[in-house]
Amino acid sequence: MKRTAHTVSAEEMKRQHAFTEEIRTLPQRPETYYVVTYGCQMNAHDSEKLAGMLREMGMTEAKAKDEADFVIFNTCCIRENAERRALGNITWLREVRKKNPGLMIAVCGCMIQEPGMAEKILKQYGFINLAFGTSNLYRFPELLYRALNTDQSTVIVEECDVVPEGLPILRARKESAYLTIMYGCNNYCSYCIVPYVRGRERSREPAAILREAEDLLNSGVREIMLLGQNVNSYGKDLPEGKSFAGLLKELDRMGIPRIRFMTSHPKDLSDELIDAMAGSVHILPQFHLPVQSGSDRILEAMNRHYTRRQYLDRVRRLRDAVPGIGLSTDIIVGFPGETEEDFLQTMELVREVGYDSAFTFIYSPRTGTRAASLPDQIIPETATERIQRLISLQETLQQTTMSRFIGMEEEILTEGFSRRSSEAVSGKGRHGISVTVPGSAKDIGKIVKCRITGLKNNTLTAERIE
Ligand code: SF4
Repeated sequence: MKRTAHTVSAEEMKRQHAFTEEIRTLPQRPETYYVVTYGCQMNAHDSEKLAGMLREMGMTEAKAKDEADFVIFNTCCIRENAERRALGNITWLREVRKKNPGLMIAVCGCMIQEPGMAEKILKQYGFINLAFGTSNLYRFPELLYRALNTDQSTVIVEECDVVPEGLPILRARKESAYLTIMYGCNNYCSYCIVPYVRGRERSREPAAILREAEDLLNSGVREIMLLGQNVNSYGKDLPEGKSFAGLLKELDRMGIPRIRFMTSHPKDLSDELIDAMAGSVHILPQFHLPVQSGSDRILEAMNRHYTRRQYLDRVRRLRDAVPGIGLSTDIIVGFPGETEEDFLQTMELVREVGYDSAFTFIYSPRTGTRAASLPDQIIPETATERIQRLISLQETLQQTTMSRFIGMEEEILTEGFSRRSSEAVSGKGRHGISVTVPGSAKDIGKIVKCRITGLKNNTLTAERIE
């Protein structure tokens, strides 16, 4: 297979595997582990890789973090809240160690990759055994081996933009699987720390992705979620100049029942990609297209590289090509300098698009990003008042947009019992919306055909038609 400059060599992966084997035989290695995950799907999938490596080292998962011999915090730094929660939990574990002196603690993920964080960890959290950044995930066996053989904290943060292949993965669900297609981000949106902690964009080789997808299909997976910070720009760094649309077409031909992807940047949403969706059988008719603001002035300050008009044009194009498509978005309220007029433009855009769901956030400054030093930071009271208006608008609109599904046939991939009834199961429909349908334990993890009959608390209810 032709390798990109970023792919970690097979020799290096073998070297890491040798550390895994060494750890298996160490008398002082932990018996049980627990991984605490914060943040997005990328992090959840990284935790599946950590669990896969730990299992190969001979460890089993503990039921709770205070019952484990080894606890790993896979952290997120997108919002200050997540960071504070992680640090609070890590400090609490120090108390647990008083009862269990052998307890090992590791911290990894985006937070560790933040500038200055490694030094802070060494100084303030010296009781941590091991800390490593996102780029070092594939070196986990080597780093753990080192940590098991020293009394000092092992802290490694390298800025290496790599693509590891062949890591073992212990997947959380059998029927639905994450599949990373690329790492990093080149966009530098002015409020976002991701490019600083996850590095530059680098795509996996198409052959490696297709092989993994095929293995998943053969193992009975019904749905794959393709992951990347900006999947729309997949392949731009590959020598062959592969595109995301091309990759989707190949995956569609493979016959995996359901294919989803996340996340997309509107500026890279090409006509080719929209046409690939329109002509596909297995790519689900849903699109998460973060808009962030409806004001051109704020979009420019956010460094988003599209205007309100361009965004709306993409939405129109998507709806023309894939009728009835499910649309969701992310919106930031209270970005520095956002006036009432800017905010009203966001409200207007939300009205115009009519999203099926919207993830709304109050802007939170992240040290190291451009927006953190912008003047005119919005006071919390104003931001809170605005987000409440936005949430209330979205909730009202959602009732109408979601009602369009009533009477329609849908297929849901059930995830578990409904929260409200033990005689109903729920999961996501093809359009990305939660649906509850009568069912039992034997339906969980299966695709169930149904007809939508009603809408309750932003969840669609349905009857079975099989
Ligand atoms: S596209 Fe923007 S918001 Fe998304 S990860 Fe990249 S920099 Fe962050």
